[in-house]
Amino acid sequence: MKVPYLDLGRQNIGLAKNFSDDLLDAVQHSEFILGKSVEQFENDFSEFIGSSYTVGVANGTDAIELAIRSLKLNTDDEVLVPTNSFIASALGVSRAGSVPVLCDSDENFHLDLDSAKRMLSSKTRALVSVSLYGQLPDMEKVKNFAQENNLLIIEDFAQSQGATYLGQQAGTFGDLGCTSFYPGKNLGALGDGGAVTTQKQELYEQVLALRNYGSTKKYHHPEIGFNSRLDSIQARFLSAKLQKLNDWNAERRELAAFYLSELAGIPNLELPKVVQGSSPVWHIFAILTSKRDELREHLELRGIGTIIHYPVPIHLQGAYAKGRVDKSITNATRQSERLVSLPLFPGMSKLEIEYVVTCVREFFHK
Ligand SMILES: *Cc1c(COP(=O)(O)O)cnc(C)c1O
Repeated sequence: MKVPYLDLGRQNIGLAKNFSDDLLDAVQHSEFILGKSVEQFENDFSEFIGSSYTVGVANGTDAIELAIRSLKLNTDDEVLVPTNSFIASALGVSRAGSVPVLCDSDENFHLDLDSAKRMLSSKTRALVSVSLYGQLPDMEKVKNFAQENNLLIIEDFAQSQGATYLGQQAGTFGDLGCTSFYPGKNLGALGDGGAVTTQKQELYEQVLALRNYGSTKKYHHPEIGFNSRLDSIQARFLSAKLQKLNDWNAERRELAAFYLSELAGIPNLELPKVVQGSSPVWHIFAILTSKRDELREHLELRGIGTIIHYPVPIHLQGAYAKGRVDKSITNATRQSERLVSLPLFPGMSKLEIEYVVTCVREFFHK
């Protein structure tokens, strides 16, 4: 048997008819840039997560950049970012002209607040809270920390569309939320896409102008903006896929529950923990083991795909060789040497996950 790390076809193929109808309709109406389909998706997404505003943008990296730009920080202002994340969490900050300050990750792969505290300076203005692998951190703690230190909160919820903390949806906690519709995300387009969410009208209007040449009115540009719009055809595809997101996330939860019960108690295998009050959507099922490379090889020989998220933490990337970094980062580096992500995706069959479990057990018990 072969089990791919991810098979997107299984979620997309069932919607192929919707997609082709959407495409035909877009062609008939010549609606390619912004317009009703983008507005419709923005409304659908706001309603889904319970946000006042959503602005569709070109991708998740731009979402972070535009979100930070909307805050009008000074160029040497600092933004705290966890080092174990996809590099875009830091890139968006850099591109907005601010300085990402790379902090350690805690045992749940979230921004470590002790490390964040160590790295506070007179220039710290904001933090990026990444709901890595599909799980929100204890947002009460994050909000308290931000309040005590007068910091703005940017949520990077690229991996956690539909995740909740105490019943509240990812993307609604911060001053701004940033997400990605990269095809492999829980809500993925058939190409690039992203969004910024906010509860604040002023920030909403800022991002709205920034994504569209800094324009508030056609051919009027009070400031320098960008061309970073969510593609109109992708917006239609996303509206269709959003209707399935709850079902897909439920499927992910079932698969994760199966791994958690079937792989419990194996020595030298650390399973992901669920933060109290948090309800993850399992974008990634990442486990830790000191035998990571051997395990991957064992699985590969048996036709099972795995990936490492992420093999090199951001503070060790060449791009940030001269960056501001917490010198006592330990968790994130330890994690990056041990992490491996097992297959988990909507449409994965019972037989497939049982096979993965069997092969993982076989590895540790031999
Ligand atoms: C995917 C991802 C992004 C970036 O999204 P793109 O749409 O690829 O630019 C940002 N942050 C995290 C945590 C991601 O997983």
